[in-house]
Parts: sequence; C-alpha cells; structure tokens
Amino acid sequence: MKALFSTWKDNLVDNRGKSPDSWADVPVKLPNAFDSKRKITGFMGWGGIVVLEEPYDVVEMAVNYAKALQQSSCAKCFPCRVGTKVGEDILEKIVSGKGVADDLKQLTDLYENIAKNSKCGIGQLGPEPIIQAIQYFRADFDDYIGGRRKPLGLKYLYKMTAPCTSACPTGMDIPLYIEQVKEGDYAGSLATIRTASPMASTLGRACFHPCENNCRRDNVDKSLSICKIKRFAWDFEDQHVVDKPVNPNKYARKETVAVIGAGPSGLSAAYYLALQGFPVTIFEKLPTVGGAAWTGIPHYRIPKDIMVREVKFVEDMGVEIKYGVEFGKDETFASLRKKGFKAFFLATGGDISKEMGVEGEKDNIPGVYGGIQILKDITDNVTKDVVKIPSIKPNPVPVPKRVLVVGAGNTAMDCVRSYIRLGSEDVNIVYRRTKKEMPADPHEVHESEDEGVKYNFLLAPTKLVTQNGKLVGLECQKMELGPPDESGRRKPMAVKGSEHVLPADIVISAIGQDCDTNYLKEEPTIQTTKWNTIITNEETYQTSVTDVFAGGDVVSGPLNLVTAVGHARRAAQSIGQYLRGESVGVSDQQIMEKIISAVGAYDKSEQVPQAKGWNRKQMPICDRKDKIGSFNEVELGYSLEDVTEESSRCMRCYIVGMASVSAGGGA
Ligand SMILES: Cc1cc2nc3c(=O)[nH]c(=O)nc-3n(C[C@H](O)[C@H](O)[C@H](O)COP(=O)(O)OP(=O)(O)OC[C@H]3O[C@@H](n4cnc5c(N)ncnc54)[C@H](O)[C@@H]3O)c2cc1C
Repeated sequence: MKALFSTWKDNLVDNRGKSPDSWADVPVKLPNAFDSKRKITGFMGWGGIVVLEEPYDVVEMAVNYAKALQQSSCAKCFPCRVGTKVGEDILEKIVSGKGVADDLKQLTDLYENIAKNSKCGIGQLGPEPIIQAIQYFRADFDDYIGGRRKPLGLKYLYKMTAPCTSACPTGMDIPLYIEQVKEGDYAGSLATIRTASPMASTLGRACFHPCENNCRRDNVDKSLSICKIKRFAWDFEDQHVVDKPVNPNKYARKETVAVIGAGPSGLSAAYYLALQGFPVTIFEKLPTVGGAAWTGIPHYRIPKDIMVREVKFVEDMGVEIKYGVEFGKDETFASLRKKGFKAFFLATGGDISKEMGVEGEKDNIPGVYGGIQILKDITDNVTKDVVKIPSIKPNPVPVPKRVLVVGAGNTAMDCVRSYIRLGSEDVNIVYRRTKKEMPADPHEVHESEDEGVKYNFLLAPTKLVTQNGKLVGLECQKMELGPPDESGRRKPMAVKGSEHVLPADIVISAIGQDCDTNYLKEEPTIQTTKWNTIITNEETYQTSVTDVFAGGDVVSGPLNLVTAVGHARRAAQSIGQYLRGESVGVSDQQIMEKIISAVGAYDKSEQVPQAKGWNRKQMPICDRKDKIGSFNEVELGYSLEDVTEESSRCMRCYIVGMASVSAGGGA
C-alpha cells in the first residue's frame, strides 16, 4: 500500500515532499477508513510508525502512544511502570509548549532503557516507535519546543493485544491467564478465560488453537501449549473445593431470550446474555448438551461427564435448557414470540453428513452411514451409563471387521479412531488427495496412524458394491493430482480404467456437513447462502430480521469450536444492545482489534532475542492398552509442576497498536 511515511518492520519509506504518484509502497496493510464516519491518518505500534496522509502530527501521536503504553503497563516491572510514566510526562511537557532541547535526548535514552530492561512486550516492543518519531520527525519536536506548533487535536484510539490473542476468535487475554497459572492463581486464570469463553474445558481439550500458530515462542524454540494450560485452569476448579463465581446480574432484566441449539455457540451466547441480566432459555432438540462437541467429538477426547459439569456452570448463571424441543417443529418464531421472547439466537450448527455422490447411495443399503450419525450413536452407547441421562436411547452400533471411512477431515479421524477402540481389525481411510492435503489436525493423523488406521490416498469412491443386498465393498477409482483448484489445493483427476473394489463391511461418509435451516421458512426474509448457512451482519451477527441473530457453524459452515464461541460472544453483545434499545454495532476496541489483525500482530520471520532450548512440556497420555482398548480420555492433563514450567515459557508478548483518526470515513 502507499503511505506518506513508514518505518514499519525496519523498512524506512519516506515520501515526504514527493508527489503521491511517485510514493513508494510500504510493507503494511492498513485500512484507510476506521468506520463509515472516520478515516485513519496514521498508526503507531510494535512495528514502527505509519503515516497515511494529512492531517497528522507525529509528536501528538507519540504522546498519545506513550499514554497508551503507560496505561497498558501491568506495573510489575520497574522500568516499564516508572519509565513509561516519566516518558509520558516529558512528552506531555513538550506538547504543552514547555519542553526544552535536552528533553529529546532524555526521552531517547529513557525509552532505550525501558526496551532493554523490561520483562514483557509492552516495555520491550513499545518504545521503538517513540524513538523513531524523535529520529525522523525531529523538526516537528523542535517546533513544539520552540513554541511554533500547537496540537491538531486528532483522536487517538489504541488497543493492547498480543499475537496469540489476536489470532483467537474470542479475543481471549492469553498472556494474562497463562501468567495467572504460573503464579498459582488458578481461579483468576479461569476468570480471565471466562471473560472470553465459558467453555474452558471443551476448548482446553479440543480447540484447534490458532493462538499457538501465532505464538512468538515458536520463533525461539516451540510454541507454548496454550490450549492445555487452559484445560489445567478448568480441571483445577473441577477437582478442588473452590468458591465458584456467581452472576451478580442474574435475572436483573425482564426481556427473555430464546437460544436455539445447545452447542458451544448457543451455550456461550446464553452465558454472556445471562451475565448481562437477561433470562435465557436454550431450546435443544437432543437430550444432550454441547452440540457437535458432545455428539461428534468422541468421549476419549472430551469426556461427557466432564462436559455435563462444564455446562452446569452456564446453567448456574441463569440459563435454562429445554431438551427434546426441535425448533421449527415443537416451537417456532411465532410460538416463542407469543410466549414473550424478545430476541432469538440461532445456533443450530450443521449436523447433516454430506453424501459421497456414489452409485447406490440412495438405495438405503444397510451398513452405509454418515459420520455424524455414527459418531453420535457411538457416543450414546459409550456414555449412557457414565452420564445417566435416561432420555438417551442409543441406536445399536455395528462393529464389523472391515471399516472404510471416506474423507480426511476431523470427522473422519474421529470415526476411524473410534472404530479402532470398538475393536474393528481393518480400519481404513479413503481419500482422493494425498497426506499433504489432508484437512485433519496433524496430531489426529499421527495418533490414528499410531493406533493402526490404514490410509488409502489418491482414491475416490465411485460405487457401493453389494452381493445379495449386503454391502461387500466400495468401488474406487485412482486419482492423480492436477493443477490447484479454487481451494488452492491440487485438484484430484480420475485415472481412466483404474476402478477396483476395496472390501468393506461398513462404509462411512465423512466428507463434510450441511446445515438444516428449514425452520427459516417461517421468516423467509432471513437470507441463506448456497450452502444453506445463515447470512448475518459480519460484525453484529444480526440477521435481516431485527430480533433474530445467528452464529456458530450455522453461519460460518462447519468450522471449529473457538470460532463458534467467538461469534456467540459478539452476538450476545449485539443482542444486549438491541434489547436495551441501543444501536447495534461494534465498539472502537473491536474495530482496533480488526485493524491490528489486518496489520499482522505476528511475524513468523521475526528474530526474537531469547535463549533457545526450553522445550514445550509434553502432555502425558494414558498407556497404550487403555488408549486403543477403551474410550477413556487419552490426554491426562498437566501436573501442577509441569503446568507451572510450561506457563513460565510465556514471553508475555503484549503489543499496543494506536490509530490516529479524523473525520471522514469509508462508504
Ligand atoms: C466429528 C467432529 C469433530 C470435531 N472436532 C473438532 C475439534 O477437535 N476441534 C474443534 O475446534 N472443532 C471440532 N469440530 C467442530 C466443532 O465441533 C463445531 O465447529 C462446533 O461444535 C460448532 O458449534 P455450534 O454451536 O455452532 O454448532 P453445534 O455444535 O453443531 O451445535 C448445534 C446444536 O443445535 C442443535 N439443533 C440443531 N437444529 C436444531 C433445531 N431445529 N432445534 C433445536 N436444536 C437444534 C443441535 O442438536 C446441536 O446441539 C468437530 C466437529 C465434528 C462434527
């Protein structure tokens, strides 16, 4: 992009005095508009200074950025706590026209000192843009000191975040909860986690942890085990007699909210609505909570007795769950509005297994299953006696010798690993691409191989093969990889005449899920995509019908737990605004969060000056016999000693980003 001036990532681009047509590019992506009313004129942060256009005042920027650093300092280390205050005061003095020439040298020395001696990102990464401002805008500082310049009075908005936090769809303050675990403040840590998600156990066990891909510790040795540290905080509360938080606003308001679906998104939205005082009822068609985290993710990854206790916490905040109620059939928008519900949050996920599109699939051949359906049946059978929910009526699960699972995502992994545990001898994956293109979590792939799952790559199913009406196999065709398709992955192309039959007693389709939004027939103005997902405002999750909001997989399409929770947190804020009669929109902090993620809070190529070799603590797992022969939880959780060491690896990479904004924004 073009900018007037930039020092971003140590690339000096100085276009001052040049005609805009000849401006050199700067290596940063910064939107021009802050929102529809305000434009961004400059940015200051961990990577340097960017000035987009007039009006700007780098001295004024520097003093406001210094204030932001001081307010963000956790005050635990002296150089940052005291140094940032002294720096702010000197800059204030300069801007108010009382500065002296020596102040600039003092400021540079001071901020160099803070950067060298502070213990976290605020102090280490924060000072550089102020030092650069003095270096490259010296004349502007001199003008202030000489009384020739007055502040423009622009608005400055800042946000403190961290590379890990910036990657988390819930915006969780990850360095803080890790620090709290390190210090033994487990209740504090869980309270921090719960400001972004009430599902600490579920996320701590099965989150795909995008945060760990943005962990600066990876630039040194290996990223932190952020996900499993979260699990420790929840397990500690679960395993000890502690005072649990209460909801001080329980039922403080009268407007009731109907949440449809008790998956991670529905539960999270209900939790944040209850905290705002709204009485919430969740309507769930199944006899169980947790959505796909219950029915899809097997017991050996998320034990369901644990999930029951996790959800009890949400209920205690003032959330009622009505089971066995199918929205669109047992209740409708009209019936619930008549009962007084003032807003809806649709969180019905996507629980229909996609068809493979092979010959014979419509013939109802026994032994052909959808992955979602079979995983639910397996969980119902495995957990019926553990959770003791009488209304669970498990379907029988066949356990044959030869199992073929078509697909290579996480549903496929859960199917094959479950069948290994059920005792099938010959458990196979059929996938039309290669291992490199598999969408499943690499850890799951590794575990499945270790447990004995066989892989058949570059094979696409074409026909279900029966003998005397009984399934005996799956005809497949060999594939070759051609040029990349729209997904960016190389397109599989059939090799003519390569059809052959793989023997199978059951075939499971695990190639994706669809959403069932039939209940929208009653509200036809709510739009859906061609994938049958619900269209909402991307920031507020409000649909075209003002009292109806939606989030989670039914909006994004099948994705992941943490995104579903992130949607819910935002939607609960919007629903609260709607019910309080406020305008439904995002805060400046949320806009800043987006700007920072557009700028890029994490740089994989950054050389981080830290000693290498403090490796990640491995999560202990159960012994092999237990792992393959039962549905017992595989990962055993960190010990107190290990979690303390692992959390001590965190470098607290907090960063502060600040935008200068002026009137006049985007369309
Ligand atoms: C097999 C499998 C494994 C997965 N593994 C992982 C993983 O390891 N990590 C990860 O991050 N993500 C994983 N995911 C994805 C993750 O589980 C989902 O993204 C997440 O659960 C979506 O949450 P949600 O609340 O939007 O929807 P869901 O979890 O699908 O919940 C929707 C709920 O709505 C209910 N419902 C639907 N229709 C109605 C209706 N008409 N009336 C009333 N109730 C209704 C459903 O019964 C369900 O309880 C996995 C998914 C599957 C299927």
